[in-house]
Amino acid sequence: MLNINKIREDFPILSKKVYDKQLVYLDNAATTQKPRQVVEKIENGYYNVNANVHRGVHFLSQEATEAHEGARRTVQRFLNARSSNEIIFTRGTTEAINLVASGFTEGCMQAGDEVIVSVMEHHSNIVPWQLEAARKGIAIKVIPVNDRGELDMDAYRALFSERTRLVSVTHVSNVLGTINPVKEIIAEAHGREVPVLIDGAQSVPHIAVDVQELDADFYTFSAHKIYGPTGMGVLYGKEEWLDRIPPYQGGGEMIATVTFEKTVFNELPYKFEAGTPDYIGSTALAEALDYVSAIGIDKIAAYEHELLTYATQRLKEIDGMRIFGEAEQKSGVISFLVGDIHHYDMGMLLDRLGIAVRTGHHCAQPLMQRFGIEGTVRASFAFYNTKEEIDILAEGIERVRKMF
Ligand code: PMP
Repeated sequence: MLNINKIREDFPILSKKVYDKQLVYLDNAATTQKPRQVVEKIENGYYNVNANVHRGVHFLSQEATEAHEGARRTVQRFLNARSSNEIIFTRGTTEAINLVASGFTEGCMQAGDEVIVSVMEHHSNIVPWQLEAARKGIAIKVIPVNDRGELDMDAYRALFSERTRLVSVTHVSNVLGTINPVKEIIAEAHGREVPVLIDGAQSVPHIAVDVQELDADFYTFSAHKIYGPTGMGVLYGKEEWLDRIPPYQGGGEMIATVTFEKTVFNELPYKFEAGTPDYIGSTALAEALDYVSAIGIDKIAAYEHELLTYATQRLKEIDGMRIFGEAEQKSGVISFLVGDIHHYDMGMLLDRLGIAVRTGHHCAQPLMQRFGIEGTVRASFAFYNTKEEIDILAEGIERVRKMF
C-alpha cells in the first residue's frame, strides 16, 4: 500500500491554504503538482549542469549532453520502446500530435485519404487534422461513443475504407475517464495495414503503458501531467514511420550538412528536434518518471481506482447528480452536473471552499455536443489525493446544491 502522508510531504503545494481553507487539489487531469525531487532537479540543472548540448567539446557541455540523452533512455525504458531513437522530445502532447499530423499527411497521405479519430478526442487531436484537411484535402472520420462513454467498436470497424491511412485516438478520455481498448483498436487497424497514433496524455501518468506490447506506431504524452515540468513532452514513434515522415521544423540540430544547394537531415531522433532542446526539462521529466517508477505505476493505478470507486459512490448519493462517463474501464476522472446548477457556478463555489476542480468543455466540445451539454464540472485524481479530500468534495457539492 502507498504511504500517502509521506508522499504528500514531497509536494509542498498540497499544504497550501486558499481562502483560509486547506487546498483540495482535484484538477490533476489539467496538470499535476510537482514533487521536490523534480523541482530540485531543475534547480541543480541550472546551477550545476547548464551548457548547450550536443555540440560542445568542453566538460560541462558533455555532462549536460549525457544528462539529456540519459533522460531520453529513461523515457525509452518507461514506455518500453525498442530504441531511444524512437523518443522525440516535444513541447507536449499538442506539439507531438501536430508533428505527426503535419509530417504524416505530407509524407504518407494524398488528397481524399482518411484519418479516423473519435468523438471523445481533446481538441489537440482534432484541430491538427482539420488544418491538414484544409491544407491537403484529407478527410476525417469519427468513431461515436455510447451513452456510458465507451467507443462503439462496431462503428469503428465500419469506418475503414481503402482510403484510411491513419487512426488517431486517445488512450484515456480527459472528460469521461474512459480507458479505451487501444490494443484492440491497434490490432483492428493493423489488420488493414493502417498505423495508429495514441494520445497518452491521460494514460501514461495513471496506468502502465508498454508501446511494444500495444504495438502502437505513435504514442504521445505531456510531462506536466506526470509530475514533470511544463513545456516538455514526448512523441514515441516506430523508426519505420519516423523515417518516412519529413522534419517538422528546420534549424540547428536537425541537420547533418547544409549547403544552399542541398541539405541533408540528421538521423533520428534529432531530425525532429530543431533548435536547442529543453535539456533541463528532459532531465526533470526523467526525474518525474523515476519518482513514479519508485512508487510503482501498478500501485498508483490500483490506489487511484480505489479513489475513483469511493468518489463515484459518494457523489452518487447526492440528489440530482449526473455523472458523464460510466465506462467499465475507467480512470480517475469524474465529470458531473448537479440538477440545473451551471458548471461554472458549481466550480466557483467549490473554489471558495478550497476545492480546485475544472469546469467547462475541457477542450472537447464535440463530446459536449454528443451529450447535449455545454460543459461539466470535473474532479480528477492523483496518487497524492485521499478519501478525506473526496469527503470534502462530496460535502462541498452538497452544500452548493442546498444553496440553489
Ligand atoms: N490530449 C488529452 C487527452 C489531454 O487531456 C490533453 C491536456 N488536457 C492534451 C491532449 C493536450 O496536452 P498538452 O496541453 O499538454 O499539450
